[in-house]
Amino acid sequence: MLKIMAVNAGSSSLKFKLMNMPEESVITEGVIERIGAEDAYYTIKINGNKQKQVLPVRNHSEAVNLLLNDLVGKNIVASLMEIKGIGHRIVQGGAYFSDSALITPKAIEIIRDYCSLAPLHNPANLIAIEAFQNALPGVPNVAVFDTSFHQTMEPEAYMYAVPYEWYTKYNIRKYGFHGTSHKYVSHKIAEVLGKPLADLKVITLHIGNGASIAAIKNGKVVDTSMGLTPLEGIPMGTRSGNIDPTIVEFICNKEHLSVSQVLAILNKKSGYLGVSGFWNDSRDLEEEVAKGNARCRLALDVQYKRIVDYIGSYYLYMGGLDVLVFTAGIGENSISFRKDIINRLGALGIVLDEEANNTRGKIKEITKPESKVRAFIVPTDEEVMIARDTVRLANL
Ligand code: AMP
Repeated sequence: MLKIMAVNAGSSSLKFKLMNMPEESVITEGVIERIGAEDAYYTIKINGNKQKQVLPVRNHSEAVNLLLNDLVGKNIVASLMEIKGIGHRIVQGGAYFSDSALITPKAIEIIRDYCSLAPLHNPANLIAIEAFQNALPGVPNVAVFDTSFHQTMEPEAYMYAVPYEWYTKYNIRKYGFHGTSHKYVSHKIAEVLGKPLADLKVITLHIGNGASIAAIKNGKVVDTSMGLTPLEGIPMGTRSGNIDPTIVEFICNKEHLSVSQVLAILNKKSGYLGVSGFWNDSRDLEEEVAKGNARCRLALDVQYKRIVDYIGSYYLYMGGLDVLVFTAGIGENSISFRKDIINRLGALGIVLDEEANNTRGKIKEITKPESKVRAFIVPTDEEVMIARDTVRLANL
């Protein structure tokens, strides 16, 4: 049995899951939030019990040491030597990484080069890698990129119609994100259907606070909704998704804001939050809609309409569709979300099974036998994918 640590470092957080492989069972999991603060939050789940602590955690290095000391201190492992590999979620792997990769000095150099494309994420990922390398010398670290599953797109799908030199000089193109999740659920649905992914046309809807859609034909991503950054695509909890880019200059002038300030609004104060005025969580929006709140209904409808636009476009681009997969916080849990999306797809001959749709968070077919396209809920598990790739790339 191999113990593998899956790590997801954000700009001020560190999520972790320690797993037994190849069983894929979880030994412990948790998160350290507000890294950099005197009152950071540390949550760790042991045997199903959550333990919470508030304490100072100055940087990611301290966060890693806190976690590793606790694993021994709480007898989760007898010795840190039991951890045989560490897998890191890395947001931006650019065009260089079309698969996960063993972390070598060369890999670190390339991840560093891509920091300009993901200035909030890649630097935090690098700090976490270094902290684990220092704490567990000799244990292999593997990078699992959010972008690599999407590297199969053709140039016609990933190029923007802008001056070509922007691409050659600055790597401006669509990369796509949530790749680990799209990969996990597409492989899982092939397994559930008992067919090779290579024989299927799949659309995966990863709809959580962040949201993206991927079209996967014969096992390869042919298009996805996020772009150079996660801002492109459908409206999300706080992101606008696609807008006319001239709006940026217009608002800069009207509100006397810089481009960065307007982009921060498009990332953090738009989407559900922007349209509703108050709420970025779909549960709150659904509650408000039930009370008759029209702005909340509009916030959802604006997103749903765009999701259906993407599905229609991917249906044509792939020349059909076998299965639609709902995943992530909203896709897995919101009954009304799935119902509304499927009911808007009548032209594709999809028939919802209302009773089956009355399900949360587990694998379930939610369309009727006569449906021309099948739809399923498939809970995502990015950490399992990270642990699998760590075992594969580190040859464990
Ligand atoms: P994620 O980013 O994947 O963690 O997803 C977060 C989103 O999932 C939030 O908007 C949550 O409101 C939503 N979510 C989680 N559970 C439910 C639920 N039971 N019903 C509706 N939305 C949910």
